[in-house]
Amino acid sequence: MDYSKLVEVYEQIESTSKRLAKTHAISELLKITSDEDIEHIILLLRGRLFPDWNKAKIGVASKLVLKAIGTSTGASIKDIENMWRDIGDLGLVAEQTIAKKTQVTLFQQNLTSDKVFANLQKVSTMEGSGSVDRKVQLIAELMSSAKPKEAKYIVRTVLEDLRVGIGDGTLRDSIVWAYMPIEINYDSEKIAIDVDREEFNKVVEIIQTAFDKSNDFGVVALAARKGVDALEKISLIPGNPIKVMLAQKEVNIDDAFKRVGVPAVIEYKYDGFRMQIHKFKGQVKVFTRRLEEVTKQFPEVVQFVTNNIAAEEFIIDCEAVGYDAKSGKYLVFQHISQRIRRKYDIEALAKKMPVELNIFDILFCDGKNLLKETLEKRRAVLEKIVTEKKFEIILSHKLITSSKEEAMLFYDESVKQGNEGVMIKNQEGIYKPGSRVGTWIKLKSTMDTLDLVIVGAEWGEGKRSGWFTSLALACVDEDGTFLEVGKVGTGLKEKAEEGLSFGEVTELLKPLMKTEKGREVTFKPEIVLEIQFEEIQASTNYSSGYALRFPRVKTLREDRSPEDASSLERIKEEFDTQKKS
Ligand code: AMP
Repeated sequence: MDYSKLVEVYEQIESTSKRLAKTHAISELLKITSDEDIEHIILLLRGRLFPDWNKAKIGVASKLVLKAIGTSTGASIKDIENMWRDIGDLGLVAEQTIAKKTQVTLFQQNLTSDKVFANLQKVSTMEGSGSVDRKVQLIAELMSSAKPKEAKYIVRTVLEDLRVGIGDGTLRDSIVWAYMPIEINYDSEKIAIDVDREEFNKVVEIIQTAFDKSNDFGVVALAARKGVDALEKISLIPGNPIKVMLAQKEVNIDDAFKRVGVPAVIEYKYDGFRMQIHKFKGQVKVFTRRLEEVTKQFPEVVQFVTNNIAAEEFIIDCEAVGYDAKSGKYLVFQHISQRIRRKYDIEALAKKMPVELNIFDILFCDGKNLLKETLEKRRAVLEKIVTEKKFEIILSHKLITSSKEEAMLFYDESVKQGNEGVMIKNQEGIYKPGSRVGTWIKLKSTMDTLDLVIVGAEWGEGKRSGWFTSLALACVDEDGTFLEVGKVGTGLKEKAEEGLSFGEVTELLKPLMKTEKGREVTFKPEIVLEIQFEEIQASTNYSSGYALRFPRVKTLREDRSPEDASSLERIKEEFDTQKKS
């Protein structure tokens, strides 16, 4: 397909915030996409080269893109840099630079989406000596045959910052509109589509289920063209991580019981971090909640699951809780988080602060997909295959009850043991990847926090010069757009020994810098912080429409991806609850 067709759709999506308009634009593109192109078109639509289960990065620095723009247009690096400083988006810089060039170059070959994808894939996998020059060449080659608008999106894709918001829900619905056997009438003037709602929900569910299992919209789209049979054949593949199920929040047992029904399963809510562990073909792979592979960082986990789980193939969901090997005392997340990104002395650190796995779910076992089984059945499978061993692997401590009093006692006991509170779950509930459905409720004892993404900062002054201060924080809306909710400077330390420091955060942010004007800097959204706050207020100062009162950094959440950040909806809910109370 001509890359220009994809670019037209990006432009349409960029120019609207209406989900139906986006869905329409994408579905029209999907209708004219061939079987051969479908998987890469789906990926490129979201500015990616790999499906959701594969967290590989393109990993190209802005400097390299500057060079590629220079090489392909003959413009000087200095001029490009100046433009970049003024405009703040290298995509727009590329667009304008190419526009100037095309006044003299009349002949241009049409660029195909396939070519763009192939070159960028090469860029993302190239390593070793000479690879930097080769990467510049590959990008420059695309630029040379790109029209101005095409150059804009190539650059944004390379930099993994497409700035075009397409959420999972929108993409799923686009596949439904394009390929499922259902009549849908769209009128851009109307706020809803004209469709048989019951039928529509049914086909949406078919697509959603296929995505839940594959975590790959390309595979789903290709199957959807072939029909429902092909969709149903899609299965979970151990080794490819799927999105984790999420919980909603309640503030008391009564409301939690009302939501999930009784009897309910109540489990300790451990304070560690989520791990999805896969075993297949004699191999074990460990993933974080953001689905990044951390197998190398957790050698003891590979041992524990190999020794204590009697199954050949499985996907389990658990909370890894760190403890001090000497004292046997459990450690809070802040202590253990360093293990996630540790690249050296891994074995020594694993010996000093190992993790204990608190398993609470199983999604796949020896050829069988368990997503649609009830929690009761899934737990029974776990009880059959797991041999518990303290400090290695245990099943989440649980109680099944309809009694509020018993639930309260269990909650108190959990908090006394140092846990965050309890999870209250519907016994009949299925496992819904990626969803905050009301069958899992969290009840926390600690002050509630938000997970927010750093999107900007100011260069510090005086004692803090050389560091980023006043970090701009953002939540995420349903289309993956980041919206600011405030700025934070409190909670970070000046000395690294005292905890998460300005210096450490600055080092993490430097490679993510997008623009710099005076002291103001913006970043690619990548780093997630857990933030405490006193209150949420309505505010016109920030793009979310809300502001945090007295925000304070609690910790760095390396286990969470920017898309995992607290949603705008969550902030609205929190604001409404506050008003009520
Ligand atoms: P929160 O991070 O506050 O949204 O709470 C949900 C998180 O609690 C999950 O993502 C898990 O990492 C963690 N968790 C701890 N214990 C459990 C449990 N028994 N069941 C489910 N999640 C748990």
